[in-house]
Amino acid sequence: MRTLQQIYIEGAFVTPHGDELFDLHNPSTEAVIGRVRLGDVEDARAAIAAAKHALPAWSATGKAERIAVLHRLHDAMKARHADLLAAIIEEYGAPSGRLEWMAAMAAQSFLEAAETLETYEFHQTIGRAEVVMQPLGVVAAITPWNSNASFICSKMATAIAAGCTVVIKPSEMSALQTQVVMEALHEAGVPKGLYNIVTGRGDVVGAEFSSHRDVAKVTFTGSTAVGRTILRAASETMKRVTLELGGKSPQIILDDADIDAILPAVVGAGFMNSGQACVAGTRVLVPESRMAEFLPKLKAAVEAVRVGDPNDTATDVGPMVSQRQFERVQGYIRLAQEEGATLLTGGEGRPEGLDHGWFVRPTIFADADNDMRFVREEIFGPVLAVIPYAEEEQAIRIANDTDYGLQAYVLSSDVDRARRVAARIEAGRVHINGAPHEPQAPFGGFKQSGIGRERGVFGLEAHMEPKAVLV
Ligand code: NAD
Repeated sequence: MRTLQQIYIEGAFVTPHGDELFDLHNPSTEAVIGRVRLGDVEDARAAIAAAKHALPAWSATGKAERIAVLHRLHDAMKARHADLLAAIIEEYGAPSGRLEWMAAMAAQSFLEAAETLETYEFHQTIGRAEVVMQPLGVVAAITPWNSNASFICSKMATAIAAGCTVVIKPSEMSALQTQVVMEALHEAGVPKGLYNIVTGRGDVVGAEFSSHRDVAKVTFTGSTAVGRTILRAASETMKRVTLELGGKSPQIILDDADIDAILPAVVGAGFMNSGQACVAGTRVLVPESRMAEFLPKLKAAVEAVRVGDPNDTATDVGPMVSQRQFERVQGYIRLAQEEGATLLTGGEGRPEGLDHGWFVRPTIFADADNDMRFVREEIFGPVLAVIPYAEEEQAIRIANDTDYGLQAYVLSSDVDRARRVAARIEAGRVHINGAPHEPQAPFGGFKQSGIGRERGVFGLEAHMEPKAVLV
């Protein structure tokens, strides 16, 4: 069994001062597959000191130098694509459809940040002022387990592009991926201290990053509850924050939709990343006039979803990441029944033929009411609620009646009508008829789905402070 013993500070692999060992699991088998030695507050402080030391030189670099470094990081990450795939399967269990995307995103993030930089103007004239966009300083990035490697790389790429240096606290549950990322990026040979990686507990290393006076900004992806804790801690020193938090995204099926044509997009958005996706479309709003036609087709489509071994390319839904997550999803399936929703397919327990591993049954509840707790709270598993509505106005009201506002989906045979509905939805992104991701467009949430935006120019500017010089 492997023990991962090192963190990455000032361009070198070092043994942390912290000595707690944390078990790593394979969620498909429940077996312990390794241990990781966790960093502590002293390690967090050493990482911050290294990033602070590297800041003056890096913040003085120009576009060309930053773009060259981003390309080197891309090439280095891409060279370890196969190893990253293996790590994601082993410790997270992502199904093949998601897996390739996640692993490719890690490398691709560096190219996307370089592309943003190519055309970005750091200087502009506004009236009599010369305005310059200046790097914020040391940025702390904190990532979740549901796409650890790609979040490490995308947060790091944006900060580096802006002229900042970085300290990173990856999810402690994703140490195999972090190890591949650290080894890969080391080969790029970039300036020492530009980025530093300390795996550790959230309430230890994450808390130190969120409160240390030498950290100028925290960029966090994770739960809304932890986002609140970080925001409180960061306020003491007025750190800038980007918080990418939870969601309970609506899929609004309009009454003119071609049900057969949209079903793959509906099921795909509902069960993406085995349902462990902040942007999963888990509230499916269906016109009462089409319900009788829709439910049997949805049931058949979901019963065709294949749950199981993530190594099998035919698998659509893999295991939940941990026993805790498995039990949490089971709890919500029980709750939905207690709340009076109708179980259409799925339910409690493991899928037939799977007697171990943290697999759950893809589950649909019909007759759901938007006030039920299982409809309002983020489950983070393959459990969808079908909510009936009478009129389009009511659908928009239900879609917006949520604490969240990360993403939404509109499905219709009339794209202009779908656009009019999209304009009234309170969410950072609205996808019409299964439209694909756009990497340069802003990503982030309204309301309790977060603060700020990542990606493209919006993400870059969130790592800089505008300074007006008047002569
Ligand atoms: P989490 O909030 O439990 O943990 C995320 C990270 O925060 C981990 O690295 C953890 O160690 C750290 N952390 C925990 N306590 C901390 C503290 N007190 N101070 C600083 N850091 C701390 O989230 P998770 O369970 O890893 O991920 C699932 C959640 O992430 C879901 O709610 C999901 O919606 C959200 N998520 C959001 C997005 C998005 O872009 N909006 C993307 C993916 C996941």
